[in-house]
Amino acid sequence: CFCELKGNVDDCSCSVDTVDYYNNVKIFPRLKSLLQSNYFRFFKVNLHNDCPFWKDVDFECAMKFCHVESCEEKDLPVELQDDIDDKPKKEAPKDKYLKENQVLGCKEDYNKELDLVNKSISEKQHEELQKWSEHDEAQDSFCVLDDHQEKAEYVDLLLNPERFTGYQGRSANRIWQTIYKENCFKSPKVSKEQSSYKQLMKTKVLDETCLEERVFYRMVSGLHASINVHLAANFLQSEKDSPLGMVSKNGLWGPNLKEFVARFSPETTYGEGEKWLRNLYFAYLVELRAIAKVAPYLRNEEFFTGIEKSDKEVRLAVNDILNVIEAFPSHFDESIMFNGVNINLKNEFREKFLNISRIMDCVGCDKCRLWGKLQTQGMGTALKILFSGKFEHNTLENNIYVTDHPIRDDFKMRRSEIVALFNAFGRLSSSIYYLELFRNQLR
Ligand code: FAD
Repeated sequence: CFCELKGNVDDCSCSVDTVDYYNNVKIFPRLKSLLQSNYFRFFKVNLHNDCPFWKDVDFECAMKFCHVESCEEKDLPVELQDDIDDKPKKEAPKDKYLKENQVLGCKEDYNKELDLVNKSISEKQHEELQKWSEHDEAQDSFCVLDDHQEKAEYVDLLLNPERFTGYQGRSANRIWQTIYKENCFKSPKVSKEQSSYKQLMKTKVLDETCLEERVFYRMVSGLHASINVHLAANFLQSEKDSPLGMVSKNGLWGPNLKEFVARFSPETTYGEGEKWLRNLYFAYLVELRAIAKVAPYLRNEEFFTGIEKSDKEVRLAVNDILNVIEAFPSHFDESIMFNGVNINLKNEFREKFLNISRIMDCVGCDKCRLWGKLQTQGMGTALKILFSGKFEHNTLENNIYVTDHPIRDDFKMRRSEIVALFNAFGRLSSSIYYLELFRNQLR
């Protein structure tokens, strides 16, 4: 059975079986339900950007099922009808203000002047600072975010499931080729014997370029595998395949084992298919770790939609998932990356990933572009969480630079980042779930 993935997921110390169990039993069902909530199902995206790399974007969407249905404003939850991020948050209940004022009242004799921060700045300085913060924000961003762009619009993800669209041929291949050829670091330099994470640590061959290159490639290849698993798992059924013997107006969708085998079997992929699926597990573990790392921040998030009852439910559901994710036995260890003195490596890594998110504007199929953008934004957000920590924590231990990448004190996540992160993780999670389904069919 070719997709019987066994053993350790390289670069991580946990086994595929552990991931399968955790994901399919504990994480996937919880995520599936969470992602149906209003907070997570609406994603603001700009599908109208021009491709920055070539002019002849060919919309080779073979099918009507390819286009995206955007939301009419009236269908959106009230709080999303205007631009949410600019909207003032709901007023806190009056008694909360009262309590705060009472506390302040106790300190009436406190000499405020001594503590006063002089916040006056000239207009010129203000402009400069604006540039600094734009620069700083860009520094930590691993993807292009659409949510502040003029043409961005809300899309209801539940109305636009990721599935087979018929997007293929030169256009689709050009995107993947560009991603792999131009954006990826070139040949990995780690020998087979050194390739596992533990071996790397043991032999102290932390040639930083090798490890980062591999992580980058594996993330992208994992995303590619996940997209292709989804299109095989949600394939347009022919009348013959359809249990009802008919195809409805909107098509009938379901798993197509032949399609899956064609995309991943050793015969058709020269033995590469299994590696691609392992990369999917790897990408999953990286995003899982990012969510675990940002859990304390997420526990303080309001998940504001304006309806207190459902916001509370979302907070509880997120907390529940975070507990499960934190209990996962062996997380990906990001502290082994970007160690040493070469700070440029992180910038190069970031630049390349930013490029990948830009390439999504060249995808010639709306629905694929939507999910491509969402998943690269989610992955970019995971990388931002893992690596936005400053480099001052480098310490030299046994001739290896060990870098702790703590989350910065001023770390912030935008709504679109949270939505993208959870949905991207949800995609990888459902791919792993579908793999079990295909595996069972193959037995
Ligand atoms: P491709 O999947 O196009 O792969 C090209 C080559 O890359 C393969 O020949 C192989 O050598 C190599 N390769 C394949 N998989 C991997 C991997 N995991 N890691 C490393 N190398 C690999 N189609 C849909 O039906 N629905 C969608 O929602 C959808 N979304 C897409 C989103 C994006 C961003 C892109 C670029 C494409 C999307 N597609 C989608 C198209 C789909 O991914 C395939 O490109 C298409 O089905 C054609 O497949 P293919 O067999 O030519 O190989």
